[in-house]
Amino acid sequence: MLRSLLRCLFALCLLGLTPWLHAAPPPPEIPAAAQAVPLDPVAATNAWLATVPAERRAKTDAYYEGGYWLQGLSALVGVASAWLLMATGISRRLRDAAERTTRRRTLQVALYALGALALLSLLGLPLEIYSGYFREHQYGLSNQTFGAWFGEALIDVALTLLLGALALVVIYAVIRRAPRTWWLWGACVTVAFTLFGSFIYPPFIAPLFNRYEPVQDARVRDEVLSLARAHGVPAEEVYQFNASKQHKRISANVAGFAGTMRIALNDNLLNRASLPEVRMVMAHEIGHYVLNHGLKATMFQIPLFVAMFAFAGWVLARVQARYALRDAADVAGFPVLLAAFTAFQLVASPLFLNITRMQEIEADRFGLAASREPDAFAAVALKLGEYRKLEPGPVEEVLFYTHPSGRKRVEMAMRFKAEMQREARAPAAVASAPGR
Ligand SMILES: [Zn+2]
Repeated sequence: MLRSLLRCLFALCLLGLTPWLHAAPPPPEIPAAAQAVPLDPVAATNAWLATVPAERRAKTDAYYEGGYWLQGLSALVGVASAWLLMATGISRRLRDAAERTTRRRTLQVALYALGALALLSLLGLPLEIYSGYFREHQYGLSNQTFGAWFGEALIDVALTLLLGALALVVIYAVIRRAPRTWWLWGACVTVAFTLFGSFIYPPFIAPLFNRYEPVQDARVRDEVLSLARAHGVPAEEVYQFNASKQHKRISANVAGFAGTMRIALNDNLLNRASLPEVRMVMAHEIGHYVLNHGLKATMFQIPLFVAMFAFAGWVLARVQARYALRDAADVAGFPVLLAAFTAFQLVASPLFLNITRMQEIEADRFGLAASREPDAFAAVALKLGEYRKLEPGPVEEVLFYTHPSGRKRVEMAMRFKAEMQREARAPAAVASAPGR
């Protein structure tokens, strides 16, 4: 008797206390046109978009459009750096130095890779500092001091050297063993590395940049785990990470692969989004997992990787004599491969992006159906619109967007809401409609 009374008291305390532990913002204010019954989805979408001040939109558009040029510039710097290493003979000298140091081919490739990747990182550093630090501050999106940013950039370079050297050792071993068909096997190795990367990301790489811990807000945790259970996602814990130390963006992810899967949301989302918004975002993320998007995206990319390696092989064969390379297995030709990969990825980026964007649309649909929070989705879409242009043109969206635009997302949410209303108004009529 006493024990059950204590248990009840304890439960009451918890219920009463949790709201003070984490003061989630109130649910978003819904514009009048989005509350109308029956709802006009177009008018409701326009009303949501009209809640974003024109000044903020102009700033976001400038930030996002500048990003298009940066992508091109970054590819240009990559190709120019690779050319520099080839044209000045630095690449060949690095190879010779590695060959003088050791007789083992694997170690020679690894040593060469460390030298070449360090030089390439150094050449790309000025643009990296501008785009990663100064530009982010210019648009008020970063929370980092230069020292903190630079420290993370160094970790990034160290990872590039380590994982890059490992990848090169494997790829050059493949080229030596299959001198004619290496481009095909190279694509397979890339797929394997992509899966390996997503496997090691949650336990080993993500913690190098952020602190991960179980979500403290019990309501958020319960809501997310309930969504996960309802859709057969084997998660027992939800994690939060301190992204606010780097930036102001809201985000969440279901990262990992096989045994390392983890549902995580960042503290900006927790601090800036209401519970319905968090529910919608997490339902979207759970959608990625349920629809097996990670593995599918990698599989869809296989033909692109094959084409990329075939193109790189073709380019290498054309310039082999000019740069005095022995054969395709000569590691001194690596900058040529890298330049070809970079150029290919720039040109084929709409194809890569299309795979991602289609999956994002699927996850949005899943998220709406699972959370039934269309207004929260509209509100979140506009929050994401702080760093992603809300209304791009159709060509712009195909060329540059990893996610559907803000307008498309709000529109999807409002169409869903209109159908929800219809269901609520006439459940019997909907249930007995022909074709059911
Ligand atoms: Zn997504």
